[in-house]
Amino acid sequence: MADDADRAQEQAEMMDALRAKNTPPRRPFTRASYDCVDCGEEIEAIRLRALPTAIRCVFCQTEHERMEQRYAR
Ligand SMILES: [Zn+2]
Repeated sequence: MADDADRAQEQAEMMDALRAKNTPPRRPFTRASYDCVDCGEEIEAIRLRALPTAIRCVFCQTEHERMEQRYAR
């Protein structure tokens, strides 16, 4: 007999994986790399020293904030 619970669990795990891929962690504690989540360029060391949780390079962060401001109004 097919196990529906197993299938549901499998589906839930797949959804989790998809969500994890689409939403980068806001405050990662450990980082494999320090690449911008938007453009993939390396984030400047000086920026990471000032803001260790930065996930975007200066350029993308500026763009991101501009977009947020636009939609906040
Ligand atoms: Zn970038």
